[in-house]
Amino acid sequence: MTNDNSSETEAASSYSDDEFDFSEFPNCPRCGNMMSRVVYGMLAGPPPPHHVAGGCLLDPDSPEFECEFCASRSNGGSDQL
Ligand SMILES: [Zn+2]
Repeated sequence: MTNDNSSETEAASSYSDDEFDFSEFPNCPRCGNMMSRVVYGMLAGPPPPHHVAGGCLLDPDSPEFECEFCASRSNGGSDQL
């Protein structure tokens, strides 16, 4: 058993992965990576891990999830590809 511990130097963050249920995050239909939730509104700081800032305005068309790898977007339930 080799435990290859890649040392990730992560900046001190006030967020912990336990705060989020990533199991509800969809995978990107295009590249298969886990998508990030788009957060709208004023943010007190940088968005938490696997979240992206979507701006202040939330439109009905605003995507709920966005892929940080290929910029594919998803509205959660509805497939729009
Ligand atoms: Zn993608």
